[in-house]
Amino acid sequence: MVYAPVRPDRSLPPVRVNLYSDTQTRPSPGMKDAMMRAEVGDEQSGDDPTINALCDRMADLTGKPAAMFLPTGTMCNQISLLVHCLPGDEILAHENSHIVANEGGAPGALAGAVILGLRGERGMFDAATMKAALREKRRNAPPQTLVAVEQTTNAGGGSVWPLGLLNDVLIAAHAEGMKTHMDGARLMNAVVASGVTARDMSEHADSVWLDFTKGLGAPLGAVLCGSEAFIDQAWRWKQRLGGSMRQAGICAAACLYALDHNVDRLAEDHANAKLLARGLKQVPGLAVEEVATNLVFFDTRRTRLTADELAGRARQAGVMVSTVGPYRVRACTHLDVDAASVDLAVQAIGAAVR
Ligand SMILES: *Cc1c(COP(=O)(O)O)cnc(C)c1O
Repeated sequence: MVYAPVRPDRSLPPVRVNLYSDTQTRPSPGMKDAMMRAEVGDEQSGDDPTINALCDRMADLTGKPAAMFLPTGTMCNQISLLVHCLPGDEILAHENSHIVANEGGAPGALAGAVILGLRGERGMFDAATMKAALREKRRNAPPQTLVAVEQTTNAGGGSVWPLGLLNDVLIAAHAEGMKTHMDGARLMNAVVASGVTARDMSEHADSVWLDFTKGLGAPLGAVLCGSEAFIDQAWRWKQRLGGSMRQAGICAAACLYALDHNVDRLAEDHANAKLLARGLKQVPGLAVEEVATNLVFFDTRRTRLTADELAGRARQAGVMVSTVGPYRVRACTHLDVDAASVDLAVQAIGAAVR
């Protein structure tokens, strides 16, 4: 089995507009300056003041008693599953969620848990769907111990769970004796798009995390939040998995900078995503999905191009997009994409289709 190459193909023209992912942002000069000036210590011993400041800030933002810095969002998800579940447990999550499709089978490989994929529009599901998936509590049924949601939904089109729907699901899970986990990779996108606070969105989640490497523009880092007891157990897994760091405050400084400078501006990414969607809707044959935040998905079927063919042609014109299915393309806006780049992308994709 040969996977896609991990080095860029040097025969391709330079990238002019990178809509491949909001993870492709580069740290800005201001962010690098904050990193240079960071006070650091030994993170593993709790002695890094910048890490501690970031964790305090995130605990406050999400309304949780404790928080922990981790290198990636995937590690936040997997450590949460390891703490919440025993081997053989069943997790209820949307069938298209990141833990199902994009973490290398880690729930099975690490926690030993299985996932029951729930269906629902745009990456979300309601309490009735969740309850319909509950098994009779018998010795031969897997214990269903966790419900996981994504805010915003990634493969679900960047949708924002409305607070009522979210609370219904999480409260119903608690009523069934289950734990609740929120993958908040793009939590601040949800906050900026809806005006609901991160604290309100996280109220009924036993664990919640935010990624700093998506639209927030930091080079690495995510913060996982929960109760003191949860974070205490999470530390054991962080240690076991080799996620405990040393002078990581240099990275936490970038995350603090992102909280101060890059949150409100997510509104620009959302406006640019809408602009992009409006432009793409004018391209004959493209079916553009509803845009809620910074992710724009569209279907190429009626152009008779596959997603890969369209992405390949756009790339030749210097525009990078990603493909998430045979005919489904994703374009992400982020802090290195402005309205002029959006125009360029629309033109390049339009030309690719013609
Ligand atoms: C990106 C992403 C993750 C994983 O985060 P990494 O920092 O890339 O490991 C998890 N969940 C969702 C919804 C994501 O979009």
